[in-house]
Amino acid sequence: MDPMSKRTFLAAGLAAGVAALPLRAGAADPNRKLGYAILGLGYYATRIIMPRFAECEQSRLVALVSGTPEKLKTFGEQYGIPESHRYSYETFDRIADNPDVDIVYIITPNSLHRTFTERAAKAGKHVMCEKPMAATAADCQAMIAACKAAGRKLMIGYRSRFQAHNIEAIKLVRDGALGPVRTIVADHGFTIGDPKQWRLNKALAGGGSLMDIGIYSLNATRYLTGEEPVAVNAMESTDRSDPRFKEVEDIISFQLLFPSGATANCYSAYSANFNRYRVTGPKGFVEIDPATSYQGQSMRTQLGGPPTPREPAPTKTNQFSAQLDHLSECILTGREPIVSGEEGLKDLRIIEAIYRSAREGRTVKL
Ligand code: NAD
Repeated sequence: MDPMSKRTFLAAGLAAGVAALPLRAGAADPNRKLGYAILGLGYYATRIIMPRFAECEQSRLVALVSGTPEKLKTFGEQYGIPESHRYSYETFDRIADNPDVDIVYIITPNSLHRTFTERAAKAGKHVMCEKPMAATAADCQAMIAACKAAGRKLMIGYRSRFQAHNIEAIKLVRDGALGPVRTIVADHGFTIGDPKQWRLNKALAGGGSLMDIGIYSLNATRYLTGEEPVAVNAMESTDRSDPRFKEVEDIISFQLLFPSGATANCYSAYSANFNRYRVTGPKGFVEIDPATSYQGQSMRTQLGGPPTPREPAPTKTNQFSAQLDHLSECILTGREPIVSGEEGLKDLRIIEAIYRSAREGRTVKL
């Protein structure tokens, strides 16, 4: 979209939708970059997300929230964030009085997503929340309710939906290039280290590999088919004598059945390295390996001939900046994000069914 048509498009969206939202004065400028506060200054926030504001067209970094004063100082200085826009978890609620902040992006351990989402919504801010949306489906519902009550948008950080190879795969599958989908194989895992990290603490993580990395397999089966599974079957393998796995699962494999008859076979692991999926139908397959990594995606298709490498249509920018700008654009135009809170809730409901299936040794209907 060229800049002029984008302006026209946004202006039309404003006229249609945003009038209903109590946006502050000045917000009606469709060329304004919306202001993000990043909450939780850990690895993903500081190493992956914050540098990507540089490539955003509609989003800018304006505030920081952290429990560590040194991090607020270091990153505040690095990104030119004034002290008035730096918050601790105790002073966070004062963000309500900061008109520069439109969106709070929550990048903390999983079980803290709910309380920070509720506080951000109460402060009148829109919310971007990392995956998994929360530790339980009940928490997800509370987060959706909080944002709805505040009239604010809620989006989950499913960045692969903005990544070129994944967008191409979705298009191929949905356009019927493979014929009706019969099978999806999706495997996500990495070898986890330090037993003391929060990812291995049930109270903070909500669960093990499935919550953290296996969710990419699950989410991919849903965005590739555009369907919701009707049954799940799961099996777990965890060495409980390994100090890393006292509280959460290591390997969990699960099968999903979709209404069309498509099936998925997925692995999630904290002791094996893979990041890939393959979708197969009677007319061929599409596979990406690695599929949902930060970079380096590689795609092959077999569509009538031999398996062939495929380059997807280029996207305007990288998956991270596109994700950030998507929420800004949705706020400006009054649209719902393609990965709203409802999307995060659906994954959590299925995750809970996967755990139940593994625990009870039976197929769970959804
Ligand atoms: P991290 O450990 O590097 O950072 C977590 C941050 O939360 C730290 O700054 C820590 O100080 C802070 N924190 C606040 N309260 C805490 C508490 N009680 N215990 C521990 N830490 C606390 O983790 P991360 O890898 O940045 O992951 C953070 C979130 O981002 C998780 O929900 C994770 O699933 C998600 N994530 C998403 C992606 C992605 O590609 N979308 C990648 C990595 C992480």
